[in-house]
Amino acid sequence: MVYSIEDAVRMASETEGDLVFVAVGFETTAPSTCVPLQKELPENFSIYSCHRICPPILKTIFDMGETKVQGMIEPGHVAVITGTKMFEPLAKEYSMPQVVAGFEPLDILMACYMLCKQIEEGRCEVENEYTRLVRPEGNPKALKLMDITYDKVDKAWRGFPVIGKSALALKSKYESHDATKVHQDILSGAPEVEAEARGCRCGEVLRGLIRSEECPMFGRACKPMSPSGPCMVSAEGSCNIAYRFGKMRV
Ligand code: SF4
Repeated sequence: MVYSIEDAVRMASETEGDLVFVAVGFETTAPSTCVPLQKELPENFSIYSCHRICPPILKTIFDMGETKVQGMIEPGHVAVITGTKMFEPLAKEYSMPQVVAGFEPLDILMACYMLCKQIEEGRCEVENEYTRLVRPEGNPKALKLMDITYDKVDKAWRGFPVIGKSALALKSKYESHDATKVHQDILSGAPEVEAEARGCRCGEVLRGLIRSEECPMFGRACKPMSPSGPCMVSAEGSCNIAYRFGKMRV
């Protein structure tokens, strides 16, 4: 595990073997992956871009219509980069009240209040609760960097079908540092989304169809120290959070 891509670049320069940096995250982390690509990189260093972007998945959730969503708390760390404007088409197209929020308990409470107020008053807007960091236009420098570095490509998501232009692949000018090209022989056979363990219901959890506690493996065969599915692995995973903070802990 490394703290940043810079650490990975430094490690590559100190070793003779090939080093692949697995770049994960949404618009929040995608710009930092672009930065070293603007400089000279060690020949043995490549990037496996697993970056995704927010709007296509939100649109897919609304279009699938499986979950009754009355309002959305939008991620503040994503909006720091993209700005609040990115969410406006969703408010118009789906009449969806949205509040961009920070991550402190008070931010979340305030976002809930603002959403309830919108619903109560029949408004469908994008409001910004995270004004201490988020601007309507976002971070233009970071957005420009993403534009020159990535192409938007179709990708399968866990629990969802392939979603058009929902992921970020390195542009062809970076192919000498693109792990999908450099290590094509290994990566071409890798599944885009690994199949879940038998009985794991992560797909339904992620689509909002069931609560983590409704999975028969929750807290039994599947716990944070012995996860059976991806939602239990990361501290940010739905099942992991439900296990640590939920009332229905088994
Ligand atoms: S991560 Fe664990 S608890 Fe969550 S759906 Fe998968 S098996 Fe069930």
